[in-house]
Amino acid sequence: MQALSNEHGDLRDPALEKIAEKVEAGERLDRDDGLALLASDDLLGVGRLANAAKERRSGPYAFFVLNRQINPTNICVLSCKFCDYAVKAGDDDAYEMTLEDIVEKVREPIDEVHIVGGLHPTWPFEYYEEMLRAVRRANPEAQIKAFTAVEIDFFARIAKISAREVLERLQAAGLDTMPGGGSEVFSERVREELFRQKMGAERWLEIHRTAHELGIRTNATLLYGHIETHEERVDHMLTLRDLQDETGGFLSFIPLAFQLGYSDIVDRPASALDDLKTIATSRLLLDNFPHIKAYWVMLGGETASMALQWGADDLDGTIGEEKIAHAALADTPVGLTTHSLLKLVREAGRVPVQRDAFYRALAVYPAPIAPAHWSQRADGEIDAPVPLKAEPLTTDGGRIDLADRGLYSWDLARLEPAALMQGASTPAPDECSP
Ligand code: SF4
Repeated sequence: MQALSNEHGDLRDPALEKIAEKVEAGERLDRDDGLALLASDDLLGVGRLANAAKERRSGPYAFFVLNRQINPTNICVLSCKFCDYAVKAGDDDAYEMTLEDIVEKVREPIDEVHIVGGLHPTWPFEYYEEMLRAVRRANPEAQIKAFTAVEIDFFARIAKISAREVLERLQAAGLDTMPGGGSEVFSERVREELFRQKMGAERWLEIHRTAHELGIRTNATLLYGHIETHEERVDHMLTLRDLQDETGGFLSFIPLAFQLGYSDIVDRPASALDDLKTIATSRLLLDNFPHIKAYWVMLGGETASMALQWGADDLDGTIGEEKIAHAALADTPVGLTTHSLLKLVREAGRVPVQRDAFYRALAVYPAPIAPAHWSQRADGEIDAPVPLKAEPLTTDGGRIDLADRGLYSWDLARLEPAALMQGASTPAPDECSP
């Protein structure tokens, strides 16, 4: 690895020196290191450290998934203060999706269906089981990532069974992985203030621990940029790190930038600088998490693309029709085309790899035929300037499907892009494997 310490004067913030030495030596960072990273005014220095940690794990690659987000209802029995998505039954904008509605949305070539929604007051637990079965029948190829720990806890209460039984039954119905929402920030102070009806840290962690015991891989989030302190952000990450040490069941960590929406909780959203430092800090503190995701829906495409140089290695996916962040006035599109995602990855200087919900590599996209600065329309054609009599140009430079479907994202760090494109086989696991 390239030297990170300050012998060339690259780190402007002396507080980063000690952290650089630890990163170089592969030593675990502590709470004070996390706080120093978030407080640092040396954005480039923080990014350099996080980038070293990212490249050690996933080399030059960045991941995305062809997915579809389904939000079956916005009717919810809770009223979290920061939530602009939830409504009550009978409200003008309340909606409920039938199984037919849901099935209709997953009949397309996607690798992941992502299902999360409100806590509906009258739907029985059996409806959610049938929902998964219907999705599986409609698209057997797509993996199902569904239901936050908050929903699992709610299902256990309405069905009067344990969370373990809920998870076992959902697994039998087709559940592959779980998303990471509902944790918000593990702080009783913040919970009391913003979401006092919702479960606390202990229950969230218990449900994810149970899922991991059942072999269900899950993800974890942090909602930041509202009233939480830096200490609360770092403590949240360290709590997740402890559980990952115990179970190894998390796939990715996703810092979610709070959207102001119609709430009056704060005057302005987190800045792009704060976004990048939070992502970088999470990459460095969460040394046992395979992936850090830059969720473009909440960050915006430009910041998400930059984050791929600040420790993140995943952009989520095409999504199709996002509703939750957009109810809170997120000013991003509700979905992205593959071409747009490829552009965001390439502008960050990364090699795009299409993955599934388990982070198995499905396809790699070689360098584009067109220069990267040419603007590209969503339909895949070049906007300008195309030379006369040129060969037909594509923006993705082709797609190479990987024959080896057993190649996980964490295996890729030791494969050069050229070897990957020639169909390299799975290397032996190393210390970066989860
Ligand atoms: S955040 Fe989730 S649980 Fe809370 S009100 Fe919104 S939909 Fe309901």
